[in-house]
Amino acid sequence: MVVRECLQAIQSEWMKAILLNSSPEGLSKKDLSGQISAFYQQLIQAASENKPEHLDPELVSIVSSLTYNDYEGKYNQVSQTLKIYFDNLVNIAASNLYPTQFADLIQTIVPIFSHAFEYAAEMETKTVSEQAKKEIESIKQQMEKLDRSKSDFIAIAAHELKTPLTLIEGYSLMLAETENPSNSEYTDHLIDGIRNGAKRLKMIIDDMVDVSLIDNNLLELNFQPVWLNQIFSQLDAELKPALKQRNINLHIDPFPGFNEMTFGTPDRLLQVFRNLLVNAIKFTPDHGDIFIEGRKLPGFIEVVIRDTGIGINPEDQSLIFNKFSRVGNVALHSTGKTKFKGGGPGLGLHIAKGIIESHGGAIWVESEGCNEKTLPGSAFHVIIPMKSIPPDDKMGQIFSSYPNFKKSGTTQ
Ligand code: ADP
Repeated sequence: MVVRECLQAIQSEWMKAILLNSSPEGLSKKDLSGQISAFYQQLIQAASENKPEHLDPELVSIVSSLTYNDYEGKYNQVSQTLKIYFDNLVNIAASNLYPTQFADLIQTIVPIFSHAFEYAAEMETKTVSEQAKKEIESIKQQMEKLDRSKSDFIAIAAHELKTPLTLIEGYSLMLAETENPSNSEYTDHLIDGIRNGAKRLKMIIDDMVDVSLIDNNLLELNFQPVWLNQIFSQLDAELKPALKQRNINLHIDPFPGFNEMTFGTPDRLLQVFRNLLVNAIKFTPDHGDIFIEGRKLPGFIEVVIRDTGIGINPEDQSLIFNKFSRVGNVALHSTGKTKFKGGGPGLGLHIAKGIIESHGGAIWVESEGCNEKTLPGSAFHVIIPMKSIPPDDKMGQIFSSYPNFKKSGTTQ
């Protein structure tokens, strides 16, 4: 008997053994019977013509019949199946064929199976990586959907909160300005409390509005001449009371480019550096230091805000730029805008990133880690493009009529 006939002779016993021993998930006995019968036919074909590639289409069909769940926690699923096919074939052939027929058969089928193992492993790797890619894509879509609903919620909540807040602001102002003989120091104190609370709430709502503008690419930039030295001297004056209260020294060291003019949106850049400085104050214990440093790069300027505070763990360094991000135990945060470890809604850095990126710049943080005892500190790097002409034509026309507009802010 030639190998082809030997294979045909043991086909039914082999199929019986496979059907008894394997039950792949999601495949009925009938489907399995069809699948292994087709496989065996191609095996006979491959053996007769000495062409192992005849099995390839059957291997593709086995691979595509497996689901993502089949692979979960396991690998080499198809190789395992092929091993079962091969082992059964060898056992059945050994007990049914004469030794010479058995030897011929083994000599023929070993190269066929070896090709099949190689081909299956390649196919399987490809399928698993494609399935993993699909999974990642679907998770990404779910995350985007979640992010979208977060953005929608912020936009709606900000809008709805604005109206009652305006009422509180208006009435508390009227109360404060009312000439009333019964107004005591105590009532003044209470009115101040209401007005401070409303002011704080307004800042949070403004941040929420900014987040929804950034997330929807609606942030409008109004390019005007801007000087970093002016921004930081304004912030120095604004934050003096908080710095004094917390005994923190702010060191502003002028660096190349610090006094030079560029085009940017001054109030937005002020907002970015305010958020970074307020954070530096918040996360630096009393008697610490904050340094403003930087350097000029080709076409850009880099500003570094370095503090001697608690620092940020490497795994949190990219997360803190997401909206509503917060590191550490929220319950342990104190309240207050510049108190040590003061809590906040977690929007400041997300807004800073949105503003800097819309200026064509970049922002990131460097820190060795978070440690309240050794205080490794954090350094927030901001890179902004230096522009000697405004990016939009309208502004360009306005400012080109100013002969000195390229001069330093100190000489204005
Ligand atoms: P928040 O309004 O809560 O301050 P931010 O977006 O400004 O929100 O900051 C997010 C989180 O990043 C903070 O809650 C804090 O955990 C961490 N963080 C920001 N700046 C610093 C810093 N200079 N040092 C240590 N941690 C910081």
